[in-house]
Amino acid sequence: MIMKAIEVRGLTHAYPDGTPALRGVDLCIQPGEAVAVVGANGAGKSTLLQHLNGLLMPTAGLVHVGGRPVTQATLAQTRSAVGYVFQDADDQLFMPTVRDDVAFGPINQGLPAQQVEARVRAALEAVGATHLAARAPYRLSGGEKRAVAIASVLAMDPAILVLDEPSSALDPAGRRRLIDLLRSLPQTRVIATHDLDLVLEVCQRVVVLHDGQVQADGAPAQLLADRELLQRCRLELPLGRATDMAQDLSEFTQVLIASRQNVSPKRLVAPGPDAAQLDALFMAAAAAPDHGELTPWRFVIVPAGKRDLLARVFASALAERDPAATGVQLEAAREKAYRAPLLMLAVARLGAAEPDIPKPERLVSLGCAIQNLLLAAHAMGYGCGLTGGQALGSTPLRELFALGDGESAVCCVNVGTVAKSKPGRIRPASQAFVSSL
Ligand code: ADP
Repeated sequence: MIMKAIEVRGLTHAYPDGTPALRGVDLCIQPGEAVAVVGANGAGKSTLLQHLNGLLMPTAGLVHVGGRPVTQATLAQTRSAVGYVFQDADDQLFMPTVRDDVAFGPINQGLPAQQVEARVRAALEAVGATHLAARAPYRLSGGEKRAVAIASVLAMDPAILVLDEPSSALDPAGRRRLIDLLRSLPQTRVIATHDLDLVLEVCQRVVVLHDGQVQADGAPAQLLADRELLQRCRLELPLGRATDMAQDLSEFTQVLIASRQNVSPKRLVAPGPDAAQLDALFMAAAAAPDHGELTPWRFVIVPAGKRDLLARVFASALAERDPAATGVQLEAAREKAYRAPLLMLAVARLGAAEPDIPKPERLVSLGCAIQNLLLAAHAMGYGCGLTGGQALGSTPLRELFALGDGESAVCCVNVGTVAKSKPGRIRPASQAFVSSL
């Protein structure tokens, strides 16, 4: 059985003034795991971390590191196993030069000079701070100090690294370097942080603390997408993600809507949507306001094998309307049935069979469904066009589509690959159609 790197059972801690900071925390961490501890301010993150290397001792419960209980008697072993990187690097760096600070731990471990030098070199190299060796720590930038603080801990070669808010106050480049470093380290890592993006990039596991208790423990991608959990624990969706996603989505939506235009079926050629895409198109339609799940509309696809029937209907509708129509005109009417690879009839259910919903509202619902479908098809790279005409109200068409009482054929929806695109239309300015009372 692999020994647990860290085992915390029923850990309770009250500060001397009586403040209860931890209330029965259970946590096991395996060697090599990178575990984030997240929680709002005051949740107990620092208090928990400080128990891992004996900076604090439990009021109740136990802490084991590498199978050994953390007590006053085992403090030396605990501290050589657990390197603690403080939130404020100034708490960690106190020697005249960076080199001295990084050498401090190995010297205290009683290592021979040669080994101390090797440790210092390797640790500074790991954090990309070799060039800072001769500098005075207090003159370094925040990011440089943080890197040196981590190096001073790495130099002691601990099996476990505990880091309290390592990315706070770092500029984007410093933060990126830190994330890459934390990802690359082989040690067991326990990282208290508010930086939920860092959690997603570095950790396989996240422990959510709230009011001194573990609220959740699991995969970051899953837990950090749980809005209810984050809200309850006063955490925010990973900042970068939330804003990036919102911004990307908003920009994408603007572009998608603005770039869609009606494409005449004459310019729509094969291929059309495949079965999976067709499914997605209808799911988009189904997401329209459906008036209390009544869905006062339906679509009827006219597959290639049935286009002849539609052609006949178009021709006979014309003949019915205009008995003097010429053969050329009838042929032109017929030809319209064969254009786009996907052709369907949009049907509104306006009859009394539906509960008492005004017709305009039902038509709005159908309009939204059609628009959703058009936008979804446009997003897939297809062109779309709506066509109408008097044939839609004709008896032969009603019969072909078996339209029921109160059902109206509203338009044909045509979808396909755009053979030839045209310049976009200029849209009306909002002043033309918006006013206020
Ligand atoms: P976090 O690191 O999640 O912000 P802390 O572990 O620092 O949370 O704090 C947990 C709780 O313990 C808070 O209520 C905080 O006010 C309290 N606390 C922290 N340090 C002390 C202290 N030295 N004395 C008294 N209360 C403290």
